[in-house]
Amino acid sequence: MMDEKEKRQRQNQAQKGYIERMGREEYNRRKREYMKEYRKKPENKKKMNAYHAEYRKRTQCQKRYNAAHPEWRERRLEKGRKRDAEARREVIRRYGGKCEICGISQIEYLTLDHSFDDGAEHRKAVHRKIYRDIVKNGFPKDKGYRVLCWNHNIGRYHGADIEAEKGAIKE
Ligand SMILES: [Zn+2]
Repeated sequence: MMDEKEKRQRQNQAQKGYIERMGREEYNRRKREYMKEYRKKPENKKKMNAYHAEYRKRTQCQKRYNAAHPEWRERRLEKGRKRDAEARREVIRRYGGKCEICGISQIEYLTLDHSFDDGAEHRKAVHRKIYRDIVKNGFPKDKGYRVLCWNHNIGRYHGADIEAEKGAIKE
């Protein structure tokens, strides 16, 4: 028998395909129409009230739980920070491990440059977790990622011709 989780996953998958075929805008428009009618019916009002009561109960439970164990939250955050740092280290290593311009290799001074200038979009798309995203996607070679030190990264941002510097600095 299918369990609840699997069933939900299948439903989500089906809905995703449905939205893709129709287009997000059209889907939203239809859903708005549908919900407008849905809310009018008294039997649905009852259902919605029950759902909201359940939702409130659930979130209050969570709040109480979190309030009772502040140290667990801290532990969760710490774990996340550690995973971020590990992902960053791995990504820097896989993309050469040193600044492409000056060759500095101390990890604290290094960052990932989006040479296609799409860094802001990338950060937004993955909620700032770019290193984890790159690990998850198997270190793609075609996205223009490269390692730079912070100086050369910010220098490029401010318009410095760092490519010209590349030849000038002898290793
Ligand atoms: Zn550099």
